[in-house]
Amino acid sequence: MAEVLVYVDHVDGAVRKPTLELLTLARRIGEPVAVALGNGAGDTAATLAEHGAVKVLTHEAAEYADYLVVPKVDALQAAHEAVSPAAVLVPSSAEGKEIAARLALRLGSGIITDAVDLEAGDEGPVATQSVFAASYTTKSRVSKGTPVITVKPNSAAVEAAPAAGAVEALSVTFSAQATGTKVTGRTPRESTGRPELTEAAIVVSGGRGVNGAENFAIIEALADSLGAAVGASRAAVDAGWYPHTNQVGQTGKSVSPQLYIASGISGAIQHRAGMQTSKTIVAVNKDAEAPIFELVDYGVVGDLFDVVPQLTEEIKAR
Ligand code: FAD
Repeated sequence: MAEVLVYVDHVDGAVRKPTLELLTLARRIGEPVAVALGNGAGDTAATLAEHGAVKVLTHEAAEYADYLVVPKVDALQAAHEAVSPAAVLVPSSAEGKEIAARLALRLGSGIITDAVDLEAGDEGPVATQSVFAASYTTKSRVSKGTPVITVKPNSAAVEAAPAAGAVEALSVTFSAQATGTKVTGRTPRESTGRPELTEAAIVVSGGRGVNGAENFAIIEALADSLGAAVGASRAAVDAGWYPHTNQVGQTGKSVSPQLYIASGISGAIQHRAGMQTSKTIVAVNKDAEAPIFELVDYGVVGDLFDVVPQLTEEIKAR
């Protein structure tokens, strides 16, 4: 069976959920070979093996922490030479997409970004994408070189699938460009204790209907009762009620959670662009004609100031 390279996104050895999702998808098209780089790379092996990695290629070097993406591209290129994989899968983060684009250029390969599903095909992996502000779903495959595919978080369920997970040291020679850009400092964001918006399994969002920064407390309370991330429409962000880092939509973040709850959001096309691939969509809106109701699985016509606190209490009581 062909091997599939999976780039491992981890923090000091703790593997992030989108990588485990990639392992689920990789198993559909071949045998996953994980590539873990930087501090704690070796510590990822047990988790990766539990989720189907037949092999884990590791390389620890200071370059991965001090420099931006090029050392990681060098390492993936070295792994590609060692394995000759059927595809390379990378999480669709900002960093992941830059790594993937640079790797595809070096390999002379085609690239597919922001896939939301992946299946085996007669002529190579077939990726599903949601395009043009989520108006269309397309299926495509790479016709040149080794397919390099980035996959959006929450595109697949994480499945345990114990495999050998044999750990091998990867031999990497860094290119001259590897040290071209240096990280000069990091300012960690103050933690809210909530999951990262683009990776969260549940997102609770508020819009103009929330009517004030202080009222976002009821959106946050619902989010916290569900262990969810908080999102906001651009109208709410532009009004200064919630930070831009939480904006969902065409000019904000693109999310694809299992459950998306929109409160006081009308459902403009630019908002839909960032959430339409959510698996289950629930909306609370006092206007029965609001366009958001065209795409919901469950809609509540009502005042969010009545409905959302009741929902929070009901969930807390369970
Ligand atoms: P509104 O459209 O004003 O809707 C508010 C809704 O709240 C209404 O449906 C109303 O019935 C309901 N409501 C009011 N009070 C209550 C209540 N008490 N209880 C229940 N419901 C209530 N928008 C984004 O969100 N993300 C983007 O990334 C984005 N990018 C854009 C890019 C461009 C180039 C442009 C032109 C626009 C973009 N927009 C984006 C803006 C978008 O067009 C809409 O203006 C915006 O999404 C509207 O936000 P909203 O739904 O919160 O507000």
